Amino acid sequence: MPTSSEIVRVRFAPSPTGYLHIGGARTMLFNWLVARKAGGCMVLRIEDTDQARHVEDSLQKILDDLRWLGLTWDEGPEAGGDYGPYFQSQRLDIYNQYMQQLLDAGQAYYAMESPQELDRMREIAKKEQGGFRYPRPDPLPTIEQGQLAMREGRKVVVRCKMPDEDITVHDSILGDVTLTADQFEDFIIQKSDGFPTYHFACVVDDALMKITHVLRGQEHLMNSHKHVALQHALGFPTPIYGHMPVIFNLDGSKMSKRDKEKAIKAGLAPPEIEVHDFRTAGFLPEAILNFIALLGWSTGDDQEAYTLDELTQAFSMERIGKTNAKFDRAKLLSFNTDWAARLPEPLLLERLKDYATINNLPICSATDDLLLRLLQACAGFRTFADLQKKIGFLFIEDEAIEFDPKAVKKVLAKNDNAGFSILNQTLTKLDALEDWTKSPIEDLVNDLCESLDTKMGNVAQPIRVAVSGSTVSPPIGETLELLGKDKTLIRIRKCLKLHVAV
Ligand code: GLU
Repeated sequence: MPTSSEIVRVRFAPSPTGYLHIGGARTMLFNWLVARKAGGCMVLRIEDTDQARHVEDSLQKILDDLRWLGLTWDEGPEAGGDYGPYFQSQRLDIYNQYMQQLLDAGQAYYAMESPQELDRMREIAKKEQGGFRYPRPDPLPTIEQGQLAMREGRKVVVRCKMPDEDITVHDSILGDVTLTADQFEDFIIQKSDGFPTYHFACVVDDALMKITHVLRGQEHLMNSHKHVALQHALGFPTPIYGHMPVIFNLDGSKMSKRDKEKAIKAGLAPPEIEVHDFRTAGFLPEAILNFIALLGWSTGDDQEAYTLDELTQAFSMERIGKTNAKFDRAKLLSFNTDWAARLPEPLLLERLKDYATINNLPICSATDDLLLRLLQACAGFRTFADLQKKIGFLFIEDEAIEFDPKAVKKVLAKNDNAGFSILNQTLTKLDALEDWTKSPIEDLVNDLCESLDTKMGNVAQPIRVAVSGSTVSPPIGETLELLGKDKTLIRIRKCLKLHVAV
């Protein structure tokens, strides 16, 4: 156990087998909070020993999305540190050295069953009594036999010789969790390609990187017993463990990236699962952090809105819960709406630009002044995607405007083309307007309402459909000023041509 005088060192250890899952972001956040609160060190370690599952650009995306969230690391890729390298694929010599130590001490041994033989053993076990536990060979193969088999080209792994005793993990969230000796088998610590398994590399690295606290998802709880056994065998200290609740969808299923494939197959829009999905969908990092902080942690009072600084103040590992966390998308959306209203304008602007850039939207070319005006004109928006829906038409060519047939029918063609007729009259007036700014435009629309003795919507909506193609846009005066007179008139004329067509 680390003593209180030791500096707190925590780690986040993603595998570059995909983008950053929202659950991974929560793991990073909680570790980050532990580190920041204690004035400790946040280590980022890349667990990249599984060559087969490596996904090309995932590392850069993980780093980039972590930075976007504001979760920085003190040691790791691009930061350096005294305990590197921080990529497991660059630490093979270190693992080999400790592997040899276990082999020499008889605490690990070469095992030579082929995958087919193991399958057969599993089949037999299934028929006989159900569960399969790898039966330790007696006598154990010698090191020489293992090396000979390797030279013969056979698939040789290294297995850890588990002690014949119960193992207890002292979990700071869940309490003591004991597994009995008969629940363990001699698990693999080195694969036949010579790479260590996750268990082995993780234990060696946690020790050599002087990790004091391991905070990770409950799906790893049963791994921790193996890790404790390896720590004992290697003479390493055991860090403080804490296993956090797993994140579930509201329907009780586990929130996984397979949800996306399932939705696509069912012809539905894929749900956001990875941080990058949320970023692309126009969520704010502030809202995401605030929301995921509450997935499994609370102070017990009513406060729900937290900045990262406030979270750092309020956070404690003791208040992480035991029960599953539910991912309520409606709640996240409302958090995002609140954060969009609360964030200082320069920061909101920066976030909007990031959204525009990663989606490669035409608003990328807009000036800061214009973007600020758009943010103000759309105040109350839920996500940047909603904002984009409202203002995207400002940035496309007039010829590219597509009129939503439903909107045309409802707003323009209904009641014997009443909307078209009003639009026609509006065009004449707008054409004659010289001061093309918000308030004269609004006055013009109001005057028209009065003279026609009709509601604002009956005049404004036809214009809106004509200039935007749909029924949503900022207030009409603002919309037309932003679009400009020429474009407004061109679009209205284009829309009026539909009159003939309907
Ligand atoms: N690479 C592992 C994962 O992504 C790390 C697990 C751990 O924190 O030990 O699940």
